[in-house]
This record gives sequence, C-alpha cells and structure tokens, in this order.
Amino acid sequence: MSSTRRPLKSLGQNFLVDNNIIDKIIHAADIGPHDCVLEIGPGRGALTEHLVRSAGRLVLIEFDHALAAVLKERYADRTQVMVIDADILTVDLKGILGETGGKWKVVANLPYNISTEVLFRLLEVRGRLARMVLMLQKEVGDRLAAAPDCSNYGVTTVLLGLWFDMRREFIVHPGCFHPRPKVDSAVLSFVPLAAPREPVGDETVFRRVVKGSFAMRRKTLVNCLKAAELVPFEDLRGILSECSIDGQRRGETLSMAEFAALSRRFSIDTK
Ligand code: SAM
Repeated sequence: MSSTRRPLKSLGQNFLVDNNIIDKIIHAADIGPHDCVLEIGPGRGALTEHLVRSAGRLVLIEFDHALAAVLKERYADRTQVMVIDADILTVDLKGILGETGGKWKVVANLPYNISTEVLFRLLEVRGRLARMVLMLQKEVGDRLAAAPDCSNYGVTTVLLGLWFDMRREFIVHPGCFHPRPKVDSAVLSFVPLAAPREPVGDETVFRRVVKGSFAMRRKTLVNCLKAAELVPFEDLRGILSECSIDGQRRGETLSMAEFAALSRRFSIDTK
C-alpha cells in the first residue's frame, strides 16, 4: 500500500520498509485464526498486510485521516477488519477491546513521540490483553528493562513492570524505516501477569509513590515523598523505618518490592 504524500513527522511516521524485520515482528506476535488483534498506527500497512492473513479479528486505529481512508477502502470486503480513524490516546479503548469475550494481541510500530503515553493507555486495559509486540525507541525499551539504581530505571520501568513480563526481542536499525529515524529502535514483547508482581494495596497510591519517588532525582527519598504529600510529614520517617527503607536513599535505588511495601503501608493511611 502506498501513499504519494510525504510522511508526517508530527505523527511519528517512520514506515517499516525492511521485509526481514516485518517477518520477525509477525513471527514474535504469533497470530492464529482465533486471535483478535489490535494494530495501533497501521500507516501504509507494512504489518497489516501480514496480520490480515492470519488474524480472526483485526482492528486498526490510525490517526492520519488520509491513510485511514486508504485502509478502509482496501479492506472494505474483509468483514473481520475494522478501521478506526481516531487518536489512540483518546479513543474508547475499553469499549473496543470489550467487543469480544477473548483477549487481544496488540501489534504496533508505535509513533515514537507518544509511545510512553500509549504504554500507559495499554496498561489501563491490561486485563483485556493476551500479548503485545511493540516497536519502541531503543531508549524507551532500555528504560523498561532497567534494573534499580541504573540511570534508565524510572517510572515506566516500575509501573509497567508491576503488570507485565517484558522481553526485548531484537534491535532495529534506522535503515529499516522510511524516513530513517535518528535513533535505534527495539521490538519488545509484553505478557500481562494474572496478578501484580507484588501486592501494592491501592494502585492509585502505588502510582503516587512511584511518581513521587522519581520526581526529583537529586533529592532524597524522604524529601521526594514529603513533596508527594501522601501522609503528614511527621508520620513519614516512621513509615519508612517500618518498611526498613532508609529515607536518605534516592528513589531510583528502590526495588519493585520496596515500592510495593511503601504503597501497602501508605494505602492504610490514605483510606
Ligand atoms: N505500522 C506502520 C509501519 O510499521 O510502517 C506505520 C508505523 S509509524 C511509526 C506510526 C503510525 O502511527 C503512523 O501511521 C501514524 O500516522 C500513526 N499515528 C500517529 N499518531 C497516532 C495516534 N495518536 N493514534 C493512532 N495512530 C497514530
């Protein structure tokens, strides 16, 4: 499928043009005739052409109206394909994935400018997902796979890591796209866990603890959590010591288990 219009930088349009990489992504997604598949940003259809041959149900969400129109026309006679001309960040994802009782596979070469926001949207609907195979900027992939106390370790590592097993499948070089992006990319697979990796109490509290702990990387944990205003400051040191966590540490040194312990403890006080 081609479009004569120049790719739009504003929509992160770096189209895949390397057949070997396309095959590897399709292989990693492991789509069968019973699978419901959501493709985010199908663009000119590099991956879609393969997905349409194997998926039982295929939903395509594309924000470029011209490309969405081409896809609609192209797949007009395929009853299993639905093209939605919409923004993945605002579309009713719960409604779309609630269409069937089964779980969905998500496949995407994501627009890099919004990839982290898309990951958080997908996190919200994790209960409807069976597997995701996503192309991301390599740097974003590195963050997801980072260990505590590394510069890449951050909010996305912990919030996504609570609910997904993530694995880097392979690296993709800029020459595999048109136009070439400035940086390397990585394809990652995500498998949702049936239960969170650690019990966290109230998940809203967990998000506040994690975001607060990373908000000021140069400050100590106790100062970050003071600014997050989860509990009165006079209670903070006692809670940290109950959880055996030194408040003088930096937030980025905490493990998932330590964030979870803090969250469980704060959840009691914020009820
Ligand atoms: N899947 C195609 C490929 O691999 O060649 C295109 C991938 S390109 C990196 C990203 C695609 O996402 C583009 O088609 C772009 O128009 C689309 N896109 C950008 N922002 C979007 C948004 N907010 N919602 C849905 N699609 C979006």
